[in-house]
Amino acid sequence: MNSTRYHRLLHLPGMSTERLDRLRHVRVALVGCGTLGGIYAQNLARLGIAHLRLIDRDIVEEHNLATQILFDEEDVKGALPKVEAARLHLVKVNSECLIEAMAADLEPSNAEALLGESELIIDATDNFETRYLINDVAVKLDKPWIYTAVVGFAGLCMAVVPGKTACLRCLLEEPPPVGSLPTCETSGVWPASAQSVAAVGITEALRLLTGEMVRGDLTELDLQAGSRRTVHVPRREACPACGQRQFGWLENRAGSQATRLCGRDMVHLSPPAPIKLDLTALAQRLAASFQIQLTEYLLHLKSAEAEIYLFPDGRALVKGVTDPARARALFNRFITA
Ligand SMILES: [Zn+2]
Repeated sequence: MNSTRYHRLLHLPGMSTERLDRLRHVRVALVGCGTLGGIYAQNLARLGIAHLRLIDRDIVEEHNLATQILFDEEDVKGALPKVEAARLHLVKVNSECLIEAMAADLEPSNAEALLGESELIIDATDNFETRYLINDVAVKLDKPWIYTAVVGFAGLCMAVVPGKTACLRCLLEEPPPVGSLPTCETSGVWPASAQSVAAVGITEALRLLTGEMVRGDLTELDLQAGSRRTVHVPRREACPACGQRQFGWLENRAGSQATRLCGRDMVHLSPPAPIKLDLTALAQRLAASFQIQLTEYLLHLKSAEAEIYLFPDGRALVKGVTDPARARALFNRFITA
């Protein structure tokens, strides 16, 4: 380890060279590279963890720049996948941290493979479906994870250590009904609230990664109200996940294949089985119908009627629509017809 680089961290109360050195050997999986994910990724890279796996299905767009600190205008122009843009920025932050970019949608079919090798999983997503899936994987594989959420000015954070603290399903057995809670679409997101709640999460991450236990508390904060509350969440024996060891979210391997993205006129489509697309050939075939941008990561197609980002693994983002069926129809009409 570079002897001066982490000097300021070493002088923190309770810190030691041994604790800090542990960070040089840990792997963390970060799910979501948006507003919360960017803050987590920056902090983890600067702490000098050994390996950071970034998982996100999205590309960088102009509206991300107001809240997502990892990205810049060049990333928007290049239509870069968020994980690639993040990786390119983070390798300049700390070359001692191996950054792995996984442009993928976390689904029941790939979740254990994507998360299974990490000592810690961090949730920086915007939806309950993915969080319940992370909870199932973490409890099944006995890995700690950190639940984080931000909407408007408010944020939530809870660290979960399976078998020792409450899990997400001890706190909330089922996700709230769709449409019952404010979302980033209806209430926006205040970046400073994301930073505050991620600050709680990154501190829990430091504890867990350096061999200290967490208390199993839920932290709720609201920067507009000026409030912060910490409540202890007890484990429940009847919890389907950590009590009964039933992993329904993980076992639903069919999953949804068309997902509307929170806060956006955009739908994500996944192929029913893995495929490999020849984007160069497709670009040539579709050149008459679309304005084309072909990069090493994706094919961006634009016409008066549709805008589609197509990835080599067959995933697609269909822009300008909110109805998954309409997105599927547009995709089928232009791409698979
Ligand atoms: Zn539980």
